[in-house]
Amino acid sequence: MVDFFMPILDRQNRAIDYLRVSVTDRCNLACTYCKPRTQMRELPHNEILRYEEIGRIVLRAVALGITRVRITGGEPLVRRGVTDFIASLRDVPGIEDVSITTNGVLLEEMADALRAAGVSRLNISLDSLRRSRFREITGSDAWDAVWRGIRRAEDLGFRPIKINVVPVKGLNDDEIADFARLTLDRALHVRFIEFMPIGSNDRWHRDECITTDRIRAVIESALGPLEPYTSERWAGPSDNYRVRRGQGIIGFISPLTKHFCAACRRLRLTPEGKIRPCLLSDTEIDIKSPMRGGCRDEEIDRLLRLALELKPERHYIGDGETQGCRRTMSSIGG
Ligand code: SF4
Repeated sequence: MVDFFMPILDRQNRAIDYLRVSVTDRCNLACTYCKPRTQMRELPHNEILRYEEIGRIVLRAVALGITRVRITGGEPLVRRGVTDFIASLRDVPGIEDVSITTNGVLLEEMADALRAAGVSRLNISLDSLRRSRFREITGSDAWDAVWRGIRRAEDLGFRPIKINVVPVKGLNDDEIADFARLTLDRALHVRFIEFMPIGSNDRWHRDECITTDRIRAVIESALGPLEPYTSERWAGPSDNYRVRRGQGIIGFISPLTKHFCAACRRLRLTPEGKIRPCLLSDTEIDIKSPMRGGCRDEEIDRLLRLALELKPERHYIGDGETQGCRRTMSSIGG
């Protein structure tokens, strides 16, 4: 009999109960800091895990203590059958929550199906509230579609709806206050994430990072002092606040200046079937080859436990190290 709900501990005695599953490296955007068009090499289809393979890994991971699954990409909504797959995960005993991170481009047309599949929480990556700048960053004219998607999600009662913004000096840092203003009359969670060196593209430079302290100072000079907000369940590494009488939440995720590795609860599964113990380390364990080689479940369990063994204590970006990981965000899933 499998004993559910007991998170498994890694070498640092961190309770690991959260698996981020990237179902594709494909994306319908080409954000300059993630997947510049010049580097758009995509995995051959047969290299990407089939849904039944992902399902099998998730089932074994749940048996080891995983209770939460987040679906990511590339852009997960571009993969056919993703909402049916999510619905199948919801029925796995032991899974308490299935959520998704999307860029919102297909959200308007897929929000109802996501809701029906049991998704209640959404993370939407959005780095500009201006059409022209959105086009500049993403290479696409889809800003209106993203905004309609957010409105549709609000109407359908997704809660929380989190807007993840990565402020970059000279790119979108003049919109920090505008993003924060979204929380005045909307129940949105706007989270500012410090810019991390992910991927070997030369886009990341320390002097383009804006620290959480700086972001907060910009917001408070525009909207007044922020009031601490006691986070809801599964708030993750976000430090949450509210503008006085604001409807929404303002959160800060500070991997560079206040890393949260001591409280890390996650593992990642890449689209081509690698278990990744840490976002900022390129250590990975191939789980697809043994599976396609006909391995037994015990072997999957062994590889998942090995990932926990190899999970580093922390990252050292910010302590003088500048190179994060070589893989692009679109091939990890964030
Ligand atoms: S850098 Fe690695 S250890 Fe630290 S929070 Fe991220 S995934 Fe966890």
